[in-house]
Amino acid sequence: MQFDESIIRNVVAQVLAEVGKAPPVTSGFKGRYGIFDCADEAVRAAREAFEKLSERSIEDRKRIIDHIRRISIDQKVELGTMEMNETKIGKLAHKIEKLELLGRKTPGVEFLRSEVYSGDHGLAVIEHAPFGVIGCITPVTHSLPTITGNAVNMIAGGNTLVVNPHPSGKKVAVEGVRRFNKAIYDDLGIDNLICVIAEPTLESADLIFHHRDVAMICVTGGPAVARAALNSGKKAVVAGPGNPPVVVDETADLDRAARSIIQGAGYDNNLLCIAEKEVFVVNSVFDELMRAMERAGAVRLNESEIDRLTSVAISEVGEPGKTKQVAAKEFIGQDAAVLARAAGKNISQDVELVFGETDEHNPFVPVEQMMPFIPFVRCHDVDEAIQKAKYYEHGFRHTAIIHSNDVRNMTKMGRVMDTTLFVKNGPSPAALGVGGEGYISFSIATPTGEGVTTPLTFTRERRCSLIDDLCILGHPAKG
Ligand code: NAD
Repeated sequence: MQFDESIIRNVVAQVLAEVGKAPPVTSGFKGRYGIFDCADEAVRAAREAFEKLSERSIEDRKRIIDHIRRISIDQKVELGTMEMNETKIGKLAHKIEKLELLGRKTPGVEFLRSEVYSGDHGLAVIEHAPFGVIGCITPVTHSLPTITGNAVNMIAGGNTLVVNPHPSGKKVAVEGVRRFNKAIYDDLGIDNLICVIAEPTLESADLIFHHRDVAMICVTGGPAVARAALNSGKKAVVAGPGNPPVVVDETADLDRAARSIIQGAGYDNNLLCIAEKEVFVVNSVFDELMRAMERAGAVRLNESEIDRLTSVAISEVGEPGKTKQVAAKEFIGQDAAVLARAAGKNISQDVELVFGETDEHNPFVPVEQMMPFIPFVRCHDVDEAIQKAKYYEHGFRHTAIIHSNDVRNMTKMGRVMDTTLFVKNGPSPAALGVGGEGYISFSIATPTGEGVTTPLTFTRERRCSLIDDLCILGHPAKG
């Protein structure tokens, strides 16, 4: 006689429910290496993997993470090329470098710590426990790099994850996740620590947002997904959009400023959310900065070239009467030479950035353009520059940059902007420990305030108190 497995599972669940225990977790997902068509199955597999991970040591978590790091570093060329071929945005060299950076510099279990309060009344230890299954949404701008960083952070914290990748970066997401899980399974016998939806849709994202076994969510993307996450009713870590302004004052080292702006804004063709998007320059050094930009290798567009580029690279979307300007999809993440051609100018393929003077009303100033053309706006003085920087950052409180040798101007801008990242005298990636101090993550939580995410972002505080004992200092009075 044949039994339907689900009937048996239901009967067992009912019996256990009667004696006050949760139903056992099934183990039907071994060998899937994290790849799922069905979001519900993905969450159940990640939940099962979470139960298994919870039985393992911190040393095992480190071993798991080491596999993710090793694959990200050793296979960066193959996986980076796959990402470039699939998404068709950005620069191949940077796709490869991003995988290496995330593999090397994302904080892992070494970032975990406990806090202790010891005193007359004993000992309180605060430890950081996992949430469980975390639902992740990842952007097309860095599909596998974001998954790599999220996986290292989240597994270090003891969690597992289900990823709904951007549809235009799903293939590399699936292949990376398959490789990570296979290596982990072969070594430690746990599968599906990282699950990915092979055919992601808004519906699968919604199912993940509202699944009862998803304990928290972490989204990395633009305004729509940030809003959806904040409305999900779950604890959400939201790495939202930015439009990072740069201020250059009269005390700045202009050659250094020019090199930094090119390096940050040209990186991966300006796909980074932290990348320089518009520059406000004090009038007295404006012309000299423009010359410094050319000396450093950027190519200047004149007014009519900028107009031509603007007319094709920025589009209007939305209902009549409620339209807004956005970056045109076919120009996002394209090379500077492609933008120059659209502006009617032929330049070398090697040029990293094109730039030019605009007024603040050119759409390249307010729009998060994610392309290697940067508008430079002339301002009377540093106060006007800071005020415009504040206005065009749109209150995202994401990233701001200043080039200055006046500590008062730096302080003033830091206070006014109130951004998560504030870089002085360097390119924007320096804020993520690339040429500056600190650690990296490609999920920088802005509206929800966690900042550059770490393993601790994905943990719950638990306090363990022992009353009146184990504080071995002094002799508190009894009674
Ligand atoms: P996007 O907003 O178009 O897509 C991001 C992800 O959200 C994708 O997986 C997409 O499918 C999904 N999505 C979109 N709308 C959704 C909805 N209503 N419900 C559920 N899922 C939804 O962004 P993109 O073009 O992939 O990435 C670029 C954007 O991401 C930029 O705005 C950039 O600033 C931002 N970003 C932020 C960070 C950060 O750390 N703060 C990092 C990288 C990118």
